[in-house]
Amino acid sequence: MRSKKNTQCRVKANVPPGIPRSRGVQKRRVKAVAPRRQRGSPLYWLVTASAVATSFWVGLNLPLGDRNQAPAIMRGSLPPATSVVGGINGLSRAASARLAAEIAAAAAREQQARFTVPPHFQGKTITHVDLAGDRKVIALTFDDGPWPESTNAILYILRKHDVRATFFLLGRNIRNFPERARQVAEHGHAIANHSWSHPYHQQTPASAAGQIDNTDIWIEQATGVRSQLFRPPGGYLHNGMAAYAAGKGQVVVMWSGDSKDYYASSAKIASNVINTARPGGIVLLHDGGGDRDRTINALPQIITTLRQQGYEFVTVPELLELHHQQMQATKG
Ligand SMILES: [Zn+2]
Repeated sequence: MRSKKNTQCRVKANVPPGIPRSRGVQKRRVKAVAPRRQRGSPLYWLVTASAVATSFWVGLNLPLGDRNQAPAIMRGSLPPATSVVGGINGLSRAASARLAAEIAAAAAREQQARFTVPPHFQGKTITHVDLAGDRKVIALTFDDGPWPESTNAILYILRKHDVRATFFLLGRNIRNFPERARQVAEHGHAIANHSWSHPYHQQTPASAAGQIDNTDIWIEQATGVRSQLFRPPGGYLHNGMAAYAAGKGQVVVMWSGDSKDYYASSAKIASNVINTARPGGIVLLHDGGGDRDRTINALPQIITTLRQQGYEFVTVPELLELHHQQMQATKG
């Protein structure tokens, strides 16, 4: 809108007073900017042909998941992330940081797209992952979203602190806020299934399938991710849904640390997470389902304190991958 308005202003300014502004005036102006004879020149066709060829090449080389949405960046035309961290040519520090965050998110999205459940975990229920050695990794998880404001606030904090987390989404919330779901995936977080409507009661085989399959479909529609993780609402493992997800080869993901953020104060939420932290641990938090201000207020302290204690933040798929890699290394 704005550029159109500006053009009109410029055209108006070029018209001598007393002569009515007409389409003819605008046409003449356009002609003066791009003379028609240029279109026939060899240079014009060379530039046009190479632009078409370049965009075709870039399109071919984008991963499938990115072709349906305008990618934030184009792979192959950017320096590797490590050379960006210190700032890149001519860009301000803020712009460099934004670009570095985009690159990190793109790499994480690519990793998610490649993820398949390692055989050891297919159909299993986990509360944490046992890792060899002394590497301190931990996975923050957020349930019951996407939710308009609180998911947004949590995405902002996670990006600011360069943390990747795992979001267990409800199908009906994706239906209501698909754009927010897409944004969670765009930021490079892992996306997982938390049922359609959060039921606790016993499900028939058909309703369990509906709860899980419909949510998986909506996740894929909104984010391009094929979810392979399921977290049962309320942690109820015996109402038919966990069994159905396990039967599909998915991982049933519980938790080792409960923030109790449904009722605790911000200070208590932070201490609950920090006191139950363990290497390979999975932390239960919530980004949706109600007022999440206490979770939002506790999150920076949780991240900062755990980092000071030497923890690295990973997604649940990354936890499973790390375990798988360790197993392969001991075998090989
Ligand atoms: Zn829940």
